[in-house]
Amino acid sequence: MTVYEVRYGRVAGSLEIPGSRSVTNRALLIASLAHGPSSLLRPLEAEDTAVMRSCLRALGVEIADGDPEAWIVEGSGGLLSVPDAPLNVGASGTTARFITAVSALVPGRVVIDGSPRMRLRPITDLIAALRDLGAEIDILGEGEGPPLAVGGQTPAGRSITMDATRSSQYVSAVAMIAPLLDGDTEIRFSGDVLVSRPYVEMTLDVMAAYGAEAEMRPGPVIHIRGSTGYRGIEYAIEPDVSAAVYPAAAAAVSGGTIEIVGVDFRSRQPDLLFFDVLAEMGCSVDWTQSGVRVSGPVRLAPVSRDMNSAPDAALMLAVVCGFADGVSTVANIGNLRIKESDRLTALQEQLAVIGIKAQTTADSITVEGGSPHGGEIATYDDHRIAMAFAVAGVATPGVRIQDPGCVAKTWPGFFAALESVTVSATMVRLDMGIIVAIDGPGGSGKTTVSRAVGERLELPHLDTGAFYRAATLVAIEASVDVQDAPAVIEEVSRHRFGYADGRMLIDDRDVSSEIRTEAVTRAASPVSAIPEVRRIMVAQQRAWVAAQGASAVVEGRDIGTVVFPDAGLKVYLTARPEVRAARRASEQGHEDVTRVASDLHRRDTIDSTRADSPLTAADDAVILDTSDLTIDEVVDRIVATAKERQTG
Ligand code: C5P
Repeated sequence: MTVYEVRYGRVAGSLEIPGSRSVTNRALLIASLAHGPSSLLRPLEAEDTAVMRSCLRALGVEIADGDPEAWIVEGSGGLLSVPDAPLNVGASGTTARFITAVSALVPGRVVIDGSPRMRLRPITDLIAALRDLGAEIDILGEGEGPPLAVGGQTPAGRSITMDATRSSQYVSAVAMIAPLLDGDTEIRFSGDVLVSRPYVEMTLDVMAAYGAEAEMRPGPVIHIRGSTGYRGIEYAIEPDVSAAVYPAAAAAVSGGTIEIVGVDFRSRQPDLLFFDVLAEMGCSVDWTQSGVRVSGPVRLAPVSRDMNSAPDAALMLAVVCGFADGVSTVANIGNLRIKESDRLTALQEQLAVIGIKAQTTADSITVEGGSPHGGEIATYDDHRIAMAFAVAGVATPGVRIQDPGCVAKTWPGFFAALESVTVSATMVRLDMGIIVAIDGPGGSGKTTVSRAVGERLELPHLDTGAFYRAATLVAIEASVDVQDAPAVIEEVSRHRFGYADGRMLIDDRDVSSEIRTEAVTRAASPVSAIPEVRRIMVAQQRAWVAAQGASAVVEGRDIGTVVFPDAGLKVYLTARPEVRAARRASEQGHEDVTRVASDLHRRDTIDSTRADSPLTAADDAVILDTSDLTIDEVVDRIVATAKERQTG
């Protein structure tokens, strides 16, 4: 099986996304029924539209798709031919529904079949509606989906009531053939319920562009004039908002910024809702002349949303919620269970793989935000599961996607596009920069060595211990018991932490000396054992390094194992306990070496036995015992190895 490892880092830059799948398939179908030729500008080239084109060709329509900028469709005027073999709709839901309706116009019998999953996806509500219009349809298989046989009797326009609680695609399918029927068609809905209504509005828009008279009236009731047919036109396909949600989400979870070209806030595509939700979660979302710019915050706020009108984006949202600060619910999305996979179950199972707890009901998912970790994602042959979890992998090292090829259904170039805007956390700079991770216990010489290595390699230096010390300081200053994790988290969440020119900042206050007191040193280990505190601090540390062009010397306890597991060079410094204690005592001007030794031992024990990110050498770290080495010797060795790696 092919497995793709997602590039870990943060997104930056701008991205063009492919044409809308939904609009491309509607325009293909309507252009095929129109009188005269049509050109479709910037259509989506992907499996879902390839399946649609091959079915339309089998019905006698000529489509020239050699030029990716414009496909030319020779309209049939509704005079379709009887195919000589069954039509295969593969795994494309829109094709299955739309082609079933169009087949009712064919003067003969059309057999329609699809993938094993498609055979399970119900289509009976559409069949009932087409029968109400007078079409003849037989279900040939055991289930509620294909294989089907359509044809034999010409349908006519009339008033019908459809069950549109499961899919709006049934409604779009019926609406698109209505202008070719004798008599007007009026569609009402059982219980007045029409799911994903914006998609139906999109259908009516495309129909109107091609000259149909179709409108949505209050009720809702759709009214379509019969016998008008369609006229061939030049039609520009808008970018796919359902695709745009992935790079936008990548900015949200990685704290990056992305500009998505061509997305228009006036679009009818319902997944636009996703951008509002991102704003509610704390992202900045700016609509510009050329598209939309999304920047992710340091921490995402949880949300509770009804996503009924945007079911595709709902899936991505559930994964984004895995990164939020608390519990989120995505509701009223029961139809996710009958998509390419049972997406609610798939979400729950794969979120668990990256360490995120989620619970589903028949029509919702509740996600406990946390600190996702790496893992191998099963994709159920479902493009949206693959893309959504790839986005998680931008902000989490070690996410691997099984069967990545399934994204070809709607976005064949997805992984290349995502990589093109992901600045890898370990990407070497043009001037051959590198991330050097230096870990080790207290008194191993980390800080002195790391500073010197940074100077010699001309790289910025980050002391991550300062962040945990700062977290400890705010707790102490607020008189919070450092053992009371929820209270510490609450206090830490109230502040902004920053690092500039080697100084530690809390809400822009320079606390570089306050964080070195004995009280802070003593309480730092319990505070830094709180997973939520680590998550907040790790996000800041990664953001800082990314801002330095992903090139720095970073020291701490978990840099090579957790913060930058792909660092170009990992060093684990250690020294015999008595040597470390003596170094610390002289650093602090302390007389009582025994007491320093016991403090150090206590901190080491907490640091190396905590559940989250324990102090340990990465498997591929260079281990250096500094007990009998001078600082210069240690620095020389690290610098030499770093240079080898830079040029190697
Ligand atoms: O390195 P320093 O002694 O300043 O770190 C203070 C404390 O912060 C350590 O004892 C350790 O508990 C914690 N720490 C950590 N992870 C890091 C850096 C420091 O848990 N990457």
